[in-house]
Amino acid sequence: MAKIPEAQNRIFKNVFVCKKCGTKVRADPQKILKGKIKCRKCKKRAFRPLKKK
Ligand SMILES: [Zn+2]
Repeated sequence: MAKIPEAQNRIFKNVFVCKKCGTKVRADPQKILKGKIKCRKCKKRAFRPLKKK
């Protein structure tokens, strides 16, 4: 029981990037939408999904 591909997918889907400083944050999308997640570097709440460029 090491790595489950499906679980890894889910982890990558839940990665967001801070719009200001580019720090990656892994969090529940629902929490991002509700503004519960803060960037650990700049304390901003502006995130975008990792996939978007
Ligand atoms: Zn930031």
